[in-house]
Amino acid sequence: MEIQEIVSRQKDFFKTQQTKNSKFRKMYLEKLKDLIVKNENLLYEAIYKDFGKSKFDTFTTEISFILNDIDFYLKNLKSLSKPKKVRTNLVNQIGKSRIYSEPLGNILVIGAWNYLYQLSLSPIIAALAAGNCCILKPSEIAENTMKTMAKIINENFPPEYLYAYEGGIDETTELLKLKFDKIFFTGSTKVGKIIYKAAAENLTPVTLELGGKSPAIITKEANLEVAAKRIVWGKFLNAGQTCVAPDYLLVEESVQEQFLEILRKYLKEFNYQPDSEHYTKIINQKNFERLIQLIDKNKIYFGGNFNKEKLYIEPTILTNITWNDEVMQEEIFGPILPVISFSNFNLILNEILEQEKPLAAYLFTNNPEEKDFFKQKLSFGGGCINDVIMHLGNENLPFGGVGNSGIGNYRGKFGFETFSHQKSILEKATWGEPNIKFPPYSEKKLSWIKRLLNFNLK
Ligand code: NAD
Repeated sequence: MEIQEIVSRQKDFFKTQQTKNSKFRKMYLEKLKDLIVKNENLLYEAIYKDFGKSKFDTFTTEISFILNDIDFYLKNLKSLSKPKKVRTNLVNQIGKSRIYSEPLGNILVIGAWNYLYQLSLSPIIAALAAGNCCILKPSEIAENTMKTMAKIINENFPPEYLYAYEGGIDETTELLKLKFDKIFFTGSTKVGKIIYKAAAENLTPVTLELGGKSPAIITKEANLEVAAKRIVWGKFLNAGQTCVAPDYLLVEESVQEQFLEILRKYLKEFNYQPDSEHYTKIINQKNFERLIQLIDKNKIYFGGNFNKEKLYIEPTILTNITWNDEVMQEEIFGPILPVISFSNFNLILNEILEQEKPLAAYLFTNNPEEKDFFKQKLSFGGGCINDVIMHLGNENLPFGGVGNSGIGNYRGKFGFETFSHQKSILEKATWGEPNIKFPPYSEKKLSWIKRLLNFNLK
């Protein structure tokens, strides 16, 4: 069946109203959960083939994430779907006001490759929970992972409800010519702009989950041991191919030497060797070549080795970095960590403000004033104080970017809202309405209205 035909069938299926039934939504969410559990090993094998990602990492960063999202919606579907009563103001008496969450219709989800299961299925789960029909276009870059997931979906879901469409740029370009009620895209800022333009042709709303350069600031008031351990884990997880990984470090000069030594200690302890179970490869030759160009040999503090056959790049720390270095111009998206030192906390915040708004930002300190400045002054998608990445592990927090790092957000109740329209309905009684708003108008009526609205006008 052609993709145009499937999209058209999804539109027809949505009109049957079946997806609005909460039992229907729950049945398919449970089915998806069963499929993931039953096919757990297949999912691990596919991703391992693509870039050597371990079972441990795949479970903790993808499978458990998805299962948690399904459980969240199974548990909260009733309260999320319930009409919300709101206060009815004086001019609308006698009446009742309610907000109804209704599904948008047919959704297109376009995913990135770096956490392919999570980034494809987490938005799909939210969209299905909200009562939509979906086309999923996973990333073609992690090919085995894409094929395995698409097969599981297409063999078990009716295509008029959920369909996984395999393909790359050409297929996505074709899809973008069709009309959807929402496009949810995860990927680079560059491609995000292409998606936004195509969506505008049909006035289609978008959520864009993009990237950027996310800073981690370490001040002299930080617990340096904790900071180093958490940063090494978060940066080199998935070999740095994580959208919210700390892209670069800003370290207060007076503790820089001590901090770098602790970083080195953890890098040795975690032992990121080629083929080690807890370290992944670079996804492909193209990204490998791009990344090794960013390693300035004169600035290596740790690492710098690589192996082309194995697509391995050793965790690499670069020091004496300035904002003008090549490594500071674009999102790194790999295991290279540049370090810029600073001596004035306030000034360094100003320098971050000069950059595009990042997807994440992190601060390591125990100083309450520094925490306040960080929260109030900087704009970023989301982040942590005294940790990295883990804000994503809480489904009660919305996940999304701001400015160049994205538009909109999802997870938990925010995901449900992202794929819903909030329909307002005012229901009026057919009695008890004073005559003052109807013609013929008079000065007396106007003065009554002014008094009622209480604007203190004469
Ligand atoms: P990408 O933008 O290259 O690709 C994303 C999707 O867009 C893929 O499905 C791909 O097939 C499609 N695509 C690529 N080029 C296209 C084109 N010209 N026209 C239409 N569609 C096209 O991104 P990627 O390499 O898969 O992922 C890396 C980027 O994604 C990084 O910038 C990273 O920060 C970002 N990212 C963001 C998040 C987030 O949640 N905000 C999560 C993961 C990755």
